[in-house]
Amino acid sequence: MFASLSGRTAVITGASRGIGRGIARRFAAAGINTVVASRSAPEAQAAAAAIAAETGTPSIGIGADVSTEAGAAALAQAALDRFGAIDILCANAGIFPAARLGAMTGAEFDQVIDTNLKSLFLTVSACLPALTASGAGRIVITSSITGPVTGYPGWSHYGASKAGQLGFMRTAAIELAPRGITVNAVMPGNIMTEGMAEMGPDYIAGMAAAIPQKALGRVEDIANAALYFASAEAGYVTGQALIVDGGQVLPESPQAMAEMG
Ligand code: NAP
Repeated sequence: MFASLSGRTAVITGASRGIGRGIARRFAAAGINTVVASRSAPEAQAAAAAIAAETGTPSIGIGADVSTEAGAAALAQAALDRFGAIDILCANAGIFPAARLGAMTGAEFDQVIDTNLKSLFLTVSACLPALTASGAGRIVITSSITGPVTGYPGWSHYGASKAGQLGFMRTAAIELAPRGITVNAVMPGNIMTEGMAEMGPDYIAGMAAAIPQKALGRVEDIANAALYFASAEAGYVTGQALIVDGGQVLPESPQAMAEMG
């Protein structure tokens, strides 16, 4: 059995919906106080209120743009003001607008890098004193298969940001080990979220057909992996990335899938 995490506090970025909300909901069910963050304060507050009502565990919603130093600092302060500690940081906020090379602007590239990658540095920096004080701090990154393992037209900036997160993770894991902090990443395949719904039914159907398990993942699949990395039992695991994708990266060719019918 896993030791209880009840009473610990987690800051989860990008948690008003999608994977982040799923992580917050799963953590709250495990008794972890949750700080739900998104740029929209009303949406973060609505998600936190629903999670608190469902689980009976305290949850607050904070409006913070974590691609900015001021936003990351305000988020960490809000968590400390309410709960007095930050034991777990889930760096999950991310965007995935598509733009192909030749059409992509520098501003579009910067926005994806700032939101998905620089936010990781900014939130880790802002939460570092509290994570250190925790004595068993946990940083859990939501990366992706896209970038570290695979590619998809329109996502060169996105793929760079997601691979960059893993590069950051490996050095952070070394630097933060003496502080008792672990740094790990979940690499989701295609997960059914509000953001995924915006990709449209053709994209979703095509992806489901390319996955050996023949279905997109659920936010709970990612949340369970994040909860493992947050656990006491994962204390000796650091600098590692776990693919959660229903086997999506495995087929060597379309023929490999076709042979399975
Ligand atoms: P989503 O449904 O679009 O939700 C994104 C969340 O991030 C929202 O809460 C959004 O709220 C927040 N956010 C965006 N920019 C932010 C910023 N600058 N500061 C603070 N919050 C911000 O996305 P998702 O599908 O759950 O994806 C979540 C993470 O998983 C992303 O990092 C994504 O790259 C990764 N991922 C997703 C999939 C998938 O299949 N869904 C696969 C691999 C990896 P606001 O708009 O109000 O800020």
